[in-house]
Order: sequence, then structure tokens, then C-alpha cells
Amino acid sequence: MHIKNWGTFATIAGYHVLLLVLLPLYFSEFNGATFALYFGTFILSGFAITAGHHRLFAHKTYAASPAYEWFWLFMSALAGQMSALSWSNDHRIHHSHVDTKKDPYNINQGFWYAHVMWLFVREAIPLDERLVSDLLKNKRVMFQHKHYKWIFLGVNAAVFGVGCLFMSPMASFVGCVLLRIFTIHHCTWFINSLAHIWGSRTYSKEQTAADNAVLAVLTFGEGYHNYHHTIANDYRNGIRWYHFDPTKWLIWTSSKIGLVSNLRWYNNLRIQQTLVKNDKRMFLDRIRDEIDETAQELRQKLEELSKNYEIKAAELTKAYRELKVATEERRQILLLEIKQLKKELRAAWKNWVSLAEMMEKRYTLAHSH
Ligand SMILES: [Zn+2]
Ligand SMILES: [Zn+2]
Repeated sequence: MHIKNWGTFATIAGYHVLLLVLLPLYFSEFNGATFALYFGTFILSGFAITAGHHRLFAHKTYAASPAYEWFWLFMSALAGQMSALSWSNDHRIHHSHVDTKKDPYNINQGFWYAHVMWLFVREAIPLDERLVSDLLKNKRVMFQHKHYKWIFLGVNAAVFGVGCLFMSPMASFVGCVLLRIFTIHHCTWFINSLAHIWGSRTYSKEQTAADNAVLAVLTFGEGYHNYHHTIANDYRNGIRWYHFDPTKWLIWTSSKIGLVSNLRWYNNLRIQQTLVKNDKRMFLDRIRDEIDETAQELRQKLEELSKNYEIKAAELTKAYRELKVATEERRQILLLEIKQLKKELRAAWKNWVSLAEMMEKRYTLAHSH
């Protein structure tokens, strides 16, 4: 391992060693207050990363009031994961160059590289001013970036101070500060490591990001990573109601009480449209170099079935839009039309899916020998 960031390495390795030594020594001094402070700040720092750094600042999946932004900008310092600006810069690069050398936490360089080593062995990633131009204009984000170290020390000292009221200073330091930073670090890092290895690839088959319900529990809902990499500007990561995504519930609830607004999300139709578009591009790319007749036919079929789906989807969207402003008489006709269109769309989707499955099988077969 060739370390380039000695400061980061010393800090992270150092606190791991410290925790390993101190935890057995002071564990017996932990009390109810230790666990309450530990869990309270663990949850706060977790949400600060997922609802704040990730879904608000890095992806702009919703808009928030300045007070709401301030709150997460301060709370996120509890997690010790760099400023929102640096975090978003690296994360946006991760999305646009996923699984390549340019990806800051490229999983193809191994589990440990993506999990934590990237922080030590590669040069600090410079800010791409064009990529984060929106954040550079946000005064609150810039304040946090400029004073990050002090905010980090301040919020953690405050937690430590509160802990000292209920337990010995060492118990407070180990249980309420070190242990929390350790757990929130690894939980977040799992998204870059495990969530790019373990799970199903329902939405994007060609990239490593995976959907994993177990990881969702550990990561405040970020385990549905395949969907997230397919449609990153959706405020949800787990899109079904039963998907464990507390961050989406938090954002949704915050919107109901007026703290945040403009939640961006994709309905089923838009998700399917995106999948058809992405998969068509992927399949055409896979057979790009094939010139025989079968490939020619497949190309035609891909064009035809995707177009067929696209047309039906567009018609249905148009009918829904019209329905909103329709007179009662027109409404009845439109409802019938929509029913018919839905049926046709389902058939078009089914045709597309069977073609996609066939293309997938063909590809696996060709690559299995
Ligand atoms: Zn990822
Ligand atoms: Zn993301």
C-alpha cells in the first residue's frame, strides 16, 4: 500500500487503534445515557449524510430552507466525512465515472480500496469547479467547507461535554464520540464497498451497484444502490412502500410540515421509460461490432419494440395531462382511452421485457465460453 494522504491515514488508523484499546477498558462504565447519546448522535449523523450530504447537496433531489440546510451542515460534522462540498464533488465524480479508474471509490480495485483505502492511497481529489458550481454559490455550504475542522471539533466537543454530565470523561469520549464515528464511518463506507458487490441488479445490469435490503438497514435506506445509480435524482432510494428507506420517509415528512419542498421522484412509467432507453443503448452497444443477419434483425427488433413502448408511454402521459383539465363529458371518454392505453402499454412492456431477457441470455451465453 502506497500511502499518499498520511494525515488522513494517521487519523483513521489512529482512532481505530485507540478505540480497540479503550473500548474494553471503559465499556463497564457505559450507562443508559451513553447508549442514548451514542444512538442519538449515530442517527443524527447518519441522516445528515444521507438526507443532507447525499440527497440534498450532492444530488439536489429536493429543495430546503436555509435553516434546514444549516441543521444538516452542522450535524454532518458529527459523522466526520469531509465538508458537503468535498463530499459532493467526489460523489458526483463517482456517479459519472462509476466502475472506472476515474471513480474515486472504484470497486474494481477491490473491497478495501472502495471501502476506505481510497482515502489514503490516492491524491486528494481536486474540486471540479464546473461540477459543483451550484454548491460554490451556496453561502452555507461554503461556510461549512471553510470552517469544517472547527465545526467538527465543536459539535463533537459538545456531545462529549453533555456525556461528561452523566459519566466519566473517558466513557463519554469512547462511547459517545469514538464509537459513533467508527460505526457511522463503516456504515457509510459500506455503500461504496458492499453496495457495489452484494445484491440484485434490477435496473442497471452493466454496473456494479446493487440493491440490497440488508444494507438498507445499515445505511438509513441507501442500500437500494442499483436503483440509485440508475435514477440518481429521485429523493427515494427504495422506491416501493415496503422498502426500508428511512431517509425517504424523513424527507417526505419534512415536506409535509413545510421544511423542504420540490421533492423529485420518478413514477413507474418514467422509470420504465428510463429502463427501456438505457437497456436499448446497452444492447445496441453490445452487438455494435456484429455484422451478420441475426444482429441486423436484433437491431431492428430493438428499435421497433422500444419505439412501440415509447409511443404508448407518450400517449398515456398526454392523456393523463389532458385529464387534469378535461370537462366532465371529455373526462369519461378520456378514462376509457386511458384504460385501453394502459392495456396496450402493458403489452408493449411485456414484449420489450422478453426481448431484453433474450438479449441478456444471448450475451451471457456468448461470454460463458
Ligand atoms: Zn455508488
Ligand atoms: Zn449518489
